[in-house]
Amino acid sequence: MNMKNKSWIVIITLLAALAIFPTIVPNPYYIHLVETILIYAILLFGLDIVVGYTGQVSLGHAGLFGVGSYTAGVLFVKLGLPFFAAVPAAIAVTACFGAVLALPALRVTGPYLAMVTLAFGTIIRILINEMTFLTEGPIGIKVPKPIFFGHKLTEVEYYYVVLVCMVLALIVVHRVLKSHLGRAFEALRDSPVACDCMGVSVYRYKVYAFVVSAALAGLAGSLYTYSEEYISPDTYNFELTILFLLAVIMGGRKTRSGALIGAAIVVMLPSLLSDIELFRKIATVLASGVVAMAVYNLKKQVKAVREVAIPVVATVGMAAFSFWLESITDWRLTIFGLMILFVVYYLQDGVVGFVRELFARVSKQSAIKAASAKTTPVVTSKAWTPAYVASNGSANLLEVKQALMQFGGLKALNLVDLNVAHASVHGLIGPNGSGKSTMMNVLTGIYQPTAGTVSFNGKVITGQTPSTIALSGIARTFQNVQLFGEMTATDNVLVGLHHTYKSNILDVIFNTPRCKREDAAARAECASLLAFVGLSELAEHEARNLPYGKQRLLEIARALGLRPQLLLLDEPAAGLPPADLPDLMAMVKKIRDHGITVILIEHHMDVVMGVSDTVSVLDFGQKIAEGKPADVQRHPAVIEAYLGSGSGAH
Ligand code: ADP
Ligand code: MG
Repeated sequence: MNMKNKSWIVIITLLAALAIFPTIVPNPYYIHLVETILIYAILLFGLDIVVGYTGQVSLGHAGLFGVGSYTAGVLFVKLGLPFFAAVPAAIAVTACFGAVLALPALRVTGPYLAMVTLAFGTIIRILINEMTFLTEGPIGIKVPKPIFFGHKLTEVEYYYVVLVCMVLALIVVHRVLKSHLGRAFEALRDSPVACDCMGVSVYRYKVYAFVVSAALAGLAGSLYTYSEEYISPDTYNFELTILFLLAVIMGGRKTRSGALIGAAIVVMLPSLLSDIELFRKIATVLASGVVAMAVYNLKKQVKAVREVAIPVVATVGMAAFSFWLESITDWRLTIFGLMILFVVYYLQDGVVGFVRELFARVSKQSAIKAASAKTTPVVTSKAWTPAYVASNGSANLLEVKQALMQFGGLKALNLVDLNVAHASVHGLIGPNGSGKSTMMNVLTGIYQPTAGTVSFNGKVITGQTPSTIALSGIARTFQNVQLFGEMTATDNVLVGLHHTYKSNILDVIFNTPRCKREDAAARAECASLLAFVGLSELAEHEARNLPYGKQRLLEIARALGLRPQLLLLDEPAAGLPPADLPDLMAMVKKIRDHGITVILIEHHMDVVMGVSDTVSVLDFGQKIAEGKPADVQRHPAVIEAYLGSGSGAH
C-alpha cells in the first residue's frame, strides 16, 4: 500500500472518530474542547498555505481570525443576520483583509515580513478595541448559538456544524493544493525567479495564497464566535498568533493531518501545563520514549552519541524537574519556550514528518540511483513532439538593439546588438563574466536594461514582466539550477505547463469536467516531455534529490512545457557526464528541427560548435565576433579573448 492510501485511511478513521465523539464522551467540556480544535484546524489549513506552501511568514493570522469573528458577531448584533449570511460575509470580508496583508509580502520577506504582519495583527486588535460603535470595544459581544429553521442549535448540534465545515474546508484546501494553483504556491516558495520565468506570476499567486488563507481564517473566526457565544478583543492577541504558527510547525507543514495534530496540541497545551500531575506523567513518558529511541539508534549505529545526547539530557532533565516542582503555573511560559526550541531543533518536519520518517525507512537515495542508472537521455521517437512553430515571415525572431546593462560602474553588457534567426541554434560564448547570463536575464525581463531594446516577433518586450515575456513564448533554463526542489519532477514540468490551465478556483474546488480534462491533457504532455529528456523513471522523485546532470535536463523539460518559440539554455552541459553530451546535442537539434529557436550558452566548445548555426562571442560585455562556428573559432579576437583571460577554450 502506498503512502497516499495510508494517509487517507488515517484521515477517514479520524473523521469517523470525530463523528461519534459526542456520543462516546457526552461531557460538554470535552465536546467544546474538540470543537475548538476543529475550528483552529480550519485556520491552520489556511495558515499552512502561506507558511508551508508559499514559504512566507505570517504573524497576522490571529488578526484575520479576529476579523472573521467580529464580522460575524457585528453582523448578528447590528443587523440580526442569520448564520447562513453572517458566515459567508465573514469569509468575504476576511479574504479582503488577506489581500491587504499580502501587500507587504510582495515587497519584503523573512524577518521584515514577520514584523509587518505582526503590526497588522496589532492594528486589527486596536481597531476592534477602539471602534466601540461597532464592536462594543473591550466589553465584547454576546452571540447566541445559531438558529436553523426556527430551531436554536444545541452544543452537540453545533459541534456537528463545525465538523461539517472542517471537512468541507479540508476538501477545498486539498483540491486547491493538488491543483495547478497549489503547484504555483509551492513553486514560488522554491524559486520565485523560475516561477516567474515559467509564466506563473509570483505577484499574483502570493496574493491568491493570502486571500485563500484569509478566507479560511474568516470561516474559522466566525465559527469561533458561535462556539464561544462571547467574543472580546483580548482573544486575538500576540500569544494566539504565535500559538498558530507553533501548531503548523509542530504538526508538520504541508499536511492536513499535521494541522489537525497541531491544533490538538495547542488547544490542549494550556490545560496540560496547568496540571502538575499530568505534566509529570507526560514528561516521564516523553523522556522514556526519547531514551528508548536513543538506545535503539546507538545500537544500530545510525546516530552518534553527540547527536542523541542533547535530546536525552533535555527530556530526562525536564522529567526530573517536573518532580521537583511544586506548582507549574509560574513555569508555563518557560516550558512553552523550551518546547518550541525542541521542536525547531529536532522535529523540523513536525509530528507528521517524524512519523513518516519512522515508516519510510527505505533508502530514497538508492532508489534514485537505481532509476538514474536505467535512464538514458536518448531522444526516442515516441516522446514529445511539439507543434511546429512556423516563422511569421520576419527575418529574425529576436532582435536586440544596443543593449546596455550597467551595475554601478560595471558595464555587464556594453551596447550589444544581437539578431537571432528563426529556427536556428544561436551559440553565445565568451569567457566567464563576459555578460552571457546577463544577456539571458535581460531577454527574460529579470533585468531591465539600462538602455537599448529587445524585440521578439517584431514587438518590443523591454519593460514587460518576466511572466508576461515567458507567456509570449520565451522559455529558459538557469546557469545555477532553479528547480522547485521540494516538488517532484512531474510537478516541476507541470508548472511549466501552467499556462495550459484555464480553470479558475471554483473549477478546482468543484473538480469540474473542464478541470479534469485540462489536468489529464497536461499530465500526458508532461509525461512525454519527461520521456523526451529521458527522465520518465525519475518522474515521481523530488527534484532536489536528482543528480545534478538530471536536474539540468529536468529544467529543459520544464522550459519546453511553456511551448516556447525561443528557448534559452544557460550552460546545459555543465554537470552532465561526457558520455551524455551527444544526446544533449541531438536533443538541441531536435528542438530546433521543430521550429523552436534556441540560444545556447555553453563552455563545451565541441557542443556549441557542433550544433550552432551561428555563434556570437562576448568579452567584457561587448560582442567581439559573430558568424559561422568554424569562422568564429579562427577569429583572432576570439583566440585572444580566450587565451588572454586564461580560461582557455574548453
Ligand atoms: P557570464 O554568464 O558570461 O559568465 P555574467 O553575465 O553572469 O557572466 O556576468 C557579467 C558581469 O556582470 C560579471 O562581472 C558579474 O559580476 C556582473 N553581474 C551580473 N549580475 C550582476 C548583478 N545582479 N549585480 C552586479 N553585478 C552583476
Ligand atoms: Mg553565466
